[in-house]
Amino acid sequence: MVKRRGLYPGTFDPLTLGHVDIIERAVKLVDELVVGVAINRDKGPLFTLEERVAMVEREMKPIAKASGVSIKVTPFENLLMQFAEEQNATVIVRGLRAVSDFEYEFQMVGMNQALNDDIETVFLMADARYQSIASRLVKEIARLNGDIASFVPAHVSEALKKKFQ
Ligand code: ADP
Repeated sequence: MVKRRGLYPGTFDPLTLGHVDIIERAVKLVDELVVGVAINRDKGPLFTLEERVAMVEREMKPIAKASGVSIKVTPFENLLMQFAEEQNATVIVRGLRAVSDFEYEFQMVGMNQALNDDIETVFLMADARYQSIASRLVKEIARLNGDIASFVPAHVSEALKKKFQ
């Protein structure tokens, strides 16, 4: 049987419980999952690429164990569709929050279909508790010394506190 490999790309600056929830759902759809961590210099990430990869990796271990799906965390800098081809992924997973994500994602899918129509993009929605979480807002709250414990895994919360000390 051919194994279905999915790719979940993002910046993960930092990883939130919203991302984790999407990954827990994605492993129900694929046999193998690549979590692609975008270098994304344009976004001026708070955490280095190495820190972001380590954060995601740490959180993936229990999910891989519980689901039996192999999860690989890989940084990338090239075009998403090129990266998906290199990784032999046939499905790209994206999370959808409110209407605000829709417009951007809609355009991206259109362009990506033109680049490679054999790779499908699927959208998943996080549990209601996590739908409003955004890395950008988490960073803002942490910077202003607010409580972020309910938005990110515990080790990410510690890492954020250290960054803003
Ligand atoms: P990007 O720079 O690609 O938007 P992010 O790390 O911000 O990277 O997000 C990666 C993916 O996860 C995107 O598809 C985004 O919509 C999704 N995502 C982020 N937070 C949530 C959330 N709280 N609920 C659902 N999807 C989310």
